[in-house]
Amino acid sequence: MVAGYGANKGLDKKVAEIYGWLAGQIREHNKLTGQCRACGKCCDFDGFDHRLFITGPELMYLTANLGDENVMPMTTSRCPYNIEGKCTVYEYRFAACRIFCCSADANFQSELSETVLKKLKSLCEEFQIPYRYNDLAFALNAFVDG
Ligand code: SF4
Ligand code: SF4
Repeated sequence: MVAGYGANKGLDKKVAEIYGWLAGQIREHNKLTGQCRACGKCCDFDGFDHRLFITGPELMYLTANLGDENVMPMTTSRCPYNIEGKCTVYEYRFAACRIFCCSADANFQSELSETVLKKLKSLCEEFQIPYRYNDLAFALNAFVDG
């Protein structure tokens, strides 16, 4: 397991709050721009020419809720949690998964990403954990490899 990761209920609660805030922002914006159809195509990053970066607190939130033993490495260009086109960790998915919508305004998404990253970075300072912002494959594989 990666140093600095582990169960932390206070941190999990704050990550959940950030995701709740994010949902409100996206809901408001989607009234204007339409919604993600959750088809899962963008979860194949090479196939969709897409990248996904995640932070430490988000990985901690996922692992705390899934259980460390259920964290999967990423061995192809597709997120391992995308199974038969569906996100199997939807409730715990990362901020970038929540923000990205192929049919929505790119500027809105970019600004929202910046704001969320600031919030996640503040959490790292508050809980004194290293701030990491890594490509999904790197983050999952590093976690599994320990
Ligand atoms: S966590 Fe879910 S939404 Fe995010 S890339 Fe993986 S399968 Fe897709
Ligand atoms: S963002 Fe687009 S490609 Fe990705 S799941 Fe939503 S509709 Fe599908």
